[in-house]
Amino acid sequence: MEKVVIIGTGCAGLTAALYTARADLSPLVLTGTMPGGLLTTTSIVENFPGFPEGIDGYELMTRMQKQAERFGARVQFGTVESVDFGGSPLKLVVDGDPIEAQTVIIASGAGHRHLGLESEELLEKKGVTYCATCDGALPMFRNQPLVVVGGGDSACEEASYLTRFASKVYLVHRRNELRASKIMAERTLANPKIEMVWDSAVTEVLDVKKDEVTGVRLKNLKTGQESTLDCAGLFVAIGHVPNTGLFKGIVDMDENGYIQPKRGTETNIPGVFVAGDCSDPVYRQAITAAGLGCASAIDAERYLAALNA
Ligand code: NAP
Repeated sequence: MEKVVIIGTGCAGLTAALYTARADLSPLVLTGTMPGGLLTTTSIVENFPGFPEGIDGYELMTRMQKQAERFGARVQFGTVESVDFGGSPLKLVVDGDPIEAQTVIIASGAGHRHLGLESEELLEKKGVTYCATCDGALPMFRNQPLVVVGGGDSACEEASYLTRFASKVYLVHRRNELRASKIMAERTLANPKIEMVWDSAVTEVLDVKKDEVTGVRLKNLKTGQESTLDCAGLFVAIGHVPNTGLFKGIVDMDENGYIQPKRGTETNIPGVFVAGDCSDPVYRQAITAAGLGCASAIDAERYLAALNA
């Protein structure tokens, strides 16, 4: 039986892995479908303390994994299919195989929010994407006008990154003020290759019939006026939704699916702890996820010490 199973290898999961490994608990760390988590899709991370020049997101996560493995964490490529937290031991099925554990740390992170348009789903990977660093350099986007939707740090970061490849980037935001942090907003507004399209929503991605993105249909939310904008790609950066569907009806969560800890990182299930973006609708930073990963490891360690005393 495993002492600790950690679900997720983002900042929260890998920090929990480091701490539980150093406590000699030999944690089993499951990657899910996105090893390294969302940060691996970021370009330069400028706000993780200790890296004054910034650090590539993928590089940061690779280093975190190496550090945890150095102390005995076992990182396994695998996706949790179901859980049975009805008793002790805790039970999980990972890619068809049963696993039993004394404690589980849920650090399953969050995924990209979609606009919810039928045309968006039909043209995904055919010009609609959720990650500029993954897809921005593709030949189909080079020297073409591109559209980014959103007004937060992610949208600003995506828009700035895409100016390397695009002939022009339109940033479509539903209000007339960016939500992004001041430094990111100022950089974005000062970039001559980015044109803001304020107070507007994308109502359709064109052109489903051609099976490729040729433009977007826009609606001005103040005037109701509709228009179209030619582009070769649509980059959606409108926030995230927690990856917690697996735990619905089992682990307490709020109406948006964020797991709600009872005390510290403890959930309503004894032995099950939570950390990072899957339980944080407020801060959602790499460093806060890492901090909560540390806290969850300490909570799990204390729980095990009491259980085995
Ligand atoms: P966010 O801060 O939640 O911003 C989401 C943006 O999308 C908001 O501007 C929101 O508009 C808009 N939006 C939400 N739903 C929409 C919809 N259905 N249609 C159109 N627009 C919609 O998300 P984020 O930008 O992904 O950032 C998440 C967290 O990560 C934040 O805490 C951020 O600071 C952090 N982050 C940091 C960095 C960095 O520092 N390098 C980079 C990326 C992210 P409203 O403004 O009108 O609500």
